[in-house]
Amino acid sequence: MKIYNTLSKRKEEFVPLEEGKVKMYVCGPTVYNLIHIGNARPMIVFDTVRRYMEHKGYEVNYVSNFTDVDDKIIKKAIEEGVDASVISERYIAECKKDMEAMNVKPATTHPKATEEICGMLDMIGTLIEKGHAYTAADGTVYFRTRSFKGYGKLSHKNLDDLQGGNRSLLVTGEDQKEDPLDFVLWKPKKEGEPYWEAPWCNGRPGWHIECSVMSKKYLGEEIDIHAGGEDLIFPHHENEIAQSEAANGKPFAKYWMHNAFLNIDNKKMSKSAGNFFTVRDISEKYDLQVLRFFMLSAHYRSPLNFSAELMEAAQNGYDRIVTSVSNLNYLLSNASSETMSEEEKALLKEADGFAAKFDEAMDDDFNTADALAAVFELVKFVNTNASAAGSKEFLQALKDEILSLSDICGLLVEKKEEMLDADVEALIAERQAARKEKNFKRADEIRDELLGKGIILEDTREGVKWKRA
Ligand code: AMP
Ligand code: ZN
Repeated sequence: MKIYNTLSKRKEEFVPLEEGKVKMYVCGPTVYNLIHIGNARPMIVFDTVRRYMEHKGYEVNYVSNFTDVDDKIIKKAIEEGVDASVISERYIAECKKDMEAMNVKPATTHPKATEEICGMLDMIGTLIEKGHAYTAADGTVYFRTRSFKGYGKLSHKNLDDLQGGNRSLLVTGEDQKEDPLDFVLWKPKKEGEPYWEAPWCNGRPGWHIECSVMSKKYLGEEIDIHAGGEDLIFPHHENEIAQSEAANGKPFAKYWMHNAFLNIDNKKMSKSAGNFFTVRDISEKYDLQVLRFFMLSAHYRSPLNFSAELMEAAQNGYDRIVTSVSNLNYLLSNASSETMSEEEKALLKEADGFAAKFDEAMDDDFNTADALAAVFELVKFVNTNASAAGSKEFLQALKDEILSLSDICGLLVEKKEEMLDADVEALIAERQAARKEKNFKRADEIRDELLGKGIILEDTREGVKWKRA
């Protein structure tokens, strides 16, 4: 399995730190609003990476944080006249609902910044002790960027270019910094804002320190994969590396993965320009499985454009898989024989080839676009070769194959068409009437239709009884 590593700028063979295990950290959202479809991209992409690794037999410890202390959260709390935690808890709950609807698995741990302050105080203390951080006159603690020799290795920036090109750093009024490149680890409290007691000043953490601390607490000092959107490469991930490696004296993450951005109608998503959608907005028009399909239809390192046409195409693609499975269910309820014929065994071998193609695409830096193409080839093969003459064993094996590949993509493609009791009763009544008129063909059709929807009929002396499969 090859992964493109932002650190080396090339695809590398994946070798876990510990055999059979993967330690993976994905930077999560700042919770001050419903998540937007841009935030959904890393969630879906890295959930798919996790699922594929699990399919390969790895035990994945997947940690993804919620940033629940931040200027935007505090601003909203002040506007609403509530505590910041009311805002963050509300949007964590909403985010979890969206994740579930997109079939994103819950992380092994979802730490929250506000619950990890102790660990942050510890790491900042260590950095000061080791000379990698210092306290300014007002109590702000800064990371001494030039003290960390590897600074710039992830974003492939050179310190002097950074200083020259980043003049804004010089005019932010932070003249108490020793060097414009230094960044905040801890800042003093402001009136009306949440704060924690600390040896340097009462206040709150800078953003970068939370991920270094949570990653260390839940995964250890060295991890396999650290991931997020490409906007996080600099400065967030660069700063995380500096903090973690300076504090722990060990390499931090082995592989750094970054998804490209999602744009809308070829423009950067922006609230003020009116081209901005939350996941909830999309859920009003589409099943969120379609959004998931859409996200996976491109390679995660390619920019992805969101448009009505592309969503329609995603809807059609997703529907093709769903229809194929639902046809198989219908055929299964009518299958004439139980066990596979020799000819079917040969066909099944051919079908296995599509699963091999799928794995090959995923092994190549999670090329979900090509992996979905392999799923479509399988669907086409199934639509051609599955018929009413097929055996139960054969049809079930084809169905399992589609479900297994879809599940790695996190796509739910078997629609459980829940029939209402009243609709079931009405069809049973129609069947009874057909039998009375000796229209056995229609009566059998109704029985099969119900079976296809998971309703099993039983003719007893007391009349027709039914149950759900
Ligand atoms: P934030 O809440 O802004 O920290 O973002 C949470 C995650 O969403 C990060 O991994 C970001 O890189 C990612 N992200 C934000 N906007 C987009 C976008 N338009 N396309 C892809 N990823 C994004
Ligand atoms: Zn982070």
